[in-house]
Amino acid sequence: MFDSLSDRLGGVFDKLRGRGALKEQDVRDAMREVRIALLEADVALPVVRRFIDQVTEKAIGHDVLRSVTPGQQVVKIVNDALIETLGGETTAELDLNAAPPVVIMMVGLQGSGKTTSTAKLGKMLKDKQGKKVLLASLDVNRPAAQEQLKVLGEQVGVGTLPIIPGQQPTEIATRAMQAAKLQAVDVLLLDTAGRLHVDQQLMDEMKAVAAISTPRETLLVVDSLSGQDAVNVAQSFSGQVDLSGVILTRMDGDARGGAALSMRAVTGKPIKFAGTGEKMDALEVFHPSRVANRILG
Ligand code: GDP
Repeated sequence: MFDSLSDRLGGVFDKLRGRGALKEQDVRDAMREVRIALLEADVALPVVRRFIDQVTEKAIGHDVLRSVTPGQQVVKIVNDALIETLGGETTAELDLNAAPPVVIMMVGLQGSGKTTSTAKLGKMLKDKQGKKVLLASLDVNRPAAQEQLKVLGEQVGVGTLPIIPGQQPTEIATRAMQAAKLQAVDVLLLDTAGRLHVDQQLMDEMKAVAAISTPRETLLVVDSLSGQDAVNVAQSFSGQVDLSGVILTRMDGDARGGAALSMRAVTGKPIKFAGTGEKMDALEVFHPSRVANRILG
């Protein structure tokens, strides 16, 4: 991921650093190349525009151009803007500050990696924070989705709600809440149904489940490989439910990086985790500054 973006930006910045003095036009030329690199990486157009405008304004400031190392300073400005675009210096933590069971609702399209991420997050909360976790699949659309979560739960040593065939998502949510209370569970993870595309039924179902379970966190799971589509999906979901964060999956793949760079601006919510593989421990807390470092090489 980010390989070609990283190469392109590296080329632009090598040129900038190589010069002793910089004129305003040099900065503008460099920014034109950065703009193309970001667009080629599938970053959403409004995000690119804002990024370039902000960086250009700061970089053509007199203090920068008159400094001893103007190229370095411009690169620093780009680095800071990248961190901001990715979510800022501080890493967004999960908010579990509520009376247990604290509910985390996972939403997203089918195939985004929602079920896998639910199990991974359950494992992380159990192993790293010592939480007692219960997983429940509300996905009655995809055949075997509930069984899939059960198998993954067993694999990571986290309990799952027993499956009762024929129940509707809201019934399952109600039952999950009861079970979580009875079992004195700290965190209840609800894996909601996904569809192949965003539709009203999916949104209504999600809202009904949210009304029953009052989730503390509603995490949108998006596939980073889906590029611009990821942005559209994020826009649709954030218009309908109160998202608290994003999990970006398949960050181990060869995505061009656009989804990661667009997500914060599009949803207004932080990327909290990155899926980095199929294995159950392949979930990482998302650190904007580390990702920015990777992009700038
Ligand atoms: P769902 O339909 O959204 O619940 O999707 P699944 O959780 O079933 O995931 C679909 C496929 O993507 C599975 O084969 C997962 O192993 C795979 N997958 C999920 N997250 C990641 C990830 O971060 N990296 C990779 N390489 N594969 C992933």
